[in-house]
Amino acid sequence: MSKFKRWHTLEWTNLRIDAYIACNGICWGCGGRVTAKKFSVDHIKPRSIGGKDQLYNLRLMHRTCHEARHGKPTMTPMQYIYRATVDERMN
Ligand SMILES: [Zn+2]
Repeated sequence: MSKFKRWHTLEWTNLRIDAYIACNGICWGCGGRVTAKKFSVDHIKPRSIGGKDQLYNLRLMHRTCHEARHGKPTMTPMQYIYRATVDERMN
């Protein structure tokens, strides 16, 4: 299954919602509140080393915090925090 398709399955959507609820809407990365409209779900054990798409292996993160965790440093850490805060206010 392609990566694109995986993100659009009902199973994955349900898992994302479960992870949101399990994490009380709090970002694992920065501890801030995460809007339910747009958020990322991080694999605690990465899929690349066998981590499963199971609730116990998932945690809620802001998209910006998730990008930062996966080493795409297009911004400084302070810029990520600022952007996550702005994202919150926009929703
Ligand atoms: Zn965050």
